[in-house]
Amino acid sequence: MHGPAGWWPAETRFEILIGAVLTQNTAWSNVEKALAGLRECGWLAPETILDAPEAELAAAIRPSGYFNIKARRLRNLCRWFLEAGGFPALERLDTGSLREALLSVNGVGRETADDILVYAFERPVFVVDAYTWRIFERLGLIAERAGYEALRAGVEAAAPGADADFFNELHALLVIHGNRLCRPKPLCGACTLRDTCPAAS
Ligand code: SF4
Repeated sequence: MHGPAGWWPAETRFEILIGAVLTQNTAWSNVEKALAGLRECGWLAPETILDAPEAELAAAIRPSGYFNIKARRLRNLCRWFLEAGGFPALERLDTGSLREALLSVNGVGRETADDILVYAFERPVFVVDAYTWRIFERLGLIAERAGYEALRAGVEAAAPGADADFFNELHALLVIHGNRLCRPKPLCGACTLRDTCPAAS
């Protein structure tokens, strides 16, 4: 229905971490503008972000919204990343330990941590976001909102042995489906799931 997504759109691996913070509560089109602002300033590496004056950093990412908060969160993430030893050291952690380490960063919640795990560290992790809840609820796959961890673990258990590529594509396609068809006002007439979807209209 939607074709391969080929996520995550980024020029470097570290950009995925930056994008995961910038995309909190905003559309990707706004993140692209914020990333362009950072690129223009040469602030796309942890060292340069930490060296940047916070007010100027916030101004550069203004299009992503909540820019003062996100500037602080970016700096928290960069500080943690460098102190932890960067990719070479973090790659050695198992997925559970790496998730806990990410969640210890002020401003990194479960969705952001799991975005980073699957897209920057290629770990087989299911990312739960607002699109996931909406689509799964409409398809009758969840009776009630049991919580982020329960849904994540449930989907991972339902796909034993699935690799990071699988979860990468699954999350990307859910986001695309939620954007294109399963919108707040869904376009069910164009959806191939309409014959089995209890919420089809
Ligand atoms: S049939 Fe409609 S409500 Fe169901 S998944 Fe498709 S777009 Fe969403």
